[in-house]
Amino acid sequence: MNTGRALQSLNGAQLNSKAVHQHAPGLKTPVKSGVTKPDTKHKKKKEKLSALCKTPPSVVKTRSGRGYRRGSFLGEGGFARCFQMKDESGKIFAAKTVAKASIKNEKTKTKLLSEIKIHKSMSHPNIVQFVDCFEDEVNVYILLEICPNQSLMDLLKNRKLLTEPEVRYFMVQIIGAVKYLHRRRVVHRDLKLGNIFFDPEMNLKIGDFGLATIISSPDKKRYTICGTPNYIAPEVLGGKNVGHSFEVDVWAVGIMMHALLFEI
Ligand code: ADP
Repeated sequence: MNTGRALQSLNGAQLNSKAVHQHAPGLKTPVKSGVTKPDTKHKKKKEKLSALCKTPPSVVKTRSGRGYRRGSFLGEGGFARCFQMKDESGKIFAAKTVAKASIKNEKTKTKLLSEIKIHKSMSHPNIVQFVDCFEDEVNVYILLEICPNQSLMDLLKNRKLLTEPEVRYFMVQIIGAVKYLHRRRVVHRDLKLGNIFFDPEMNLKIGDFGLATIISSPDKKRYTICGTPNYIAPEVLGGKNVGHSFEVDVWAVGIMMHALLFEI
């Protein structure tokens, strides 16, 4: 496979672009959309679903009566906004906040429930720890271990390039977590620099299980075209005709390693 060619089109913006999730067929391939200049003159920018997420109240109460005090805004993805939340003992978490208004149909609901179910079942030192999940009238909150030191994408933006020993050190952590996922039959399907966060001790943690799926038996494949342009493995783009499995995460790890080591 010609990895060189696939990587030629990478740039910082594309590496950081948003995930896509489409059922084949009938989709303009995500890679194409990642490298084609948007026609800004004629096309209205599609509003992100996360824009529907309003800032949560200063105290969010769970059904069981626990209260969390909202802190600062941490970041935003395509679907969710993330805020600091402090519990009554003073412990700080990250709350991935999804507006109920953005959960319009059964498919979106099923996807969110699947993210919660899969993330909840994970326990590994290099995977963002799921803590709790609750809702109020307007939002669903996924309470997570806080990673206050940004992502590998932010580090790369600041540093431009990392050294081989640094990349080796990070790769040991990432690959350990991917091995753990795959042993539990979970494919993440959206591994990218922007989804790998630093905890307070600068350990790496894989987050965002929004596209993760369980492959129940080794001969089963998935056929949904999803992922982030430039990290997508070729077999994903084959859609219904090809199918994909665990290897897509390995491909994405390779893309990340290349991006960290070589100037693009
Ligand atoms: P989406 O599913 O919408 O892509 P993400 O899970 O990527 O949402 O989260 C959106 C943003 O929230 C991230 O880019 C990051 O800035 C921030 N974030 C997510 N999880 C954490 C965390 N555990 N600690 C700190 N910030 C986080």
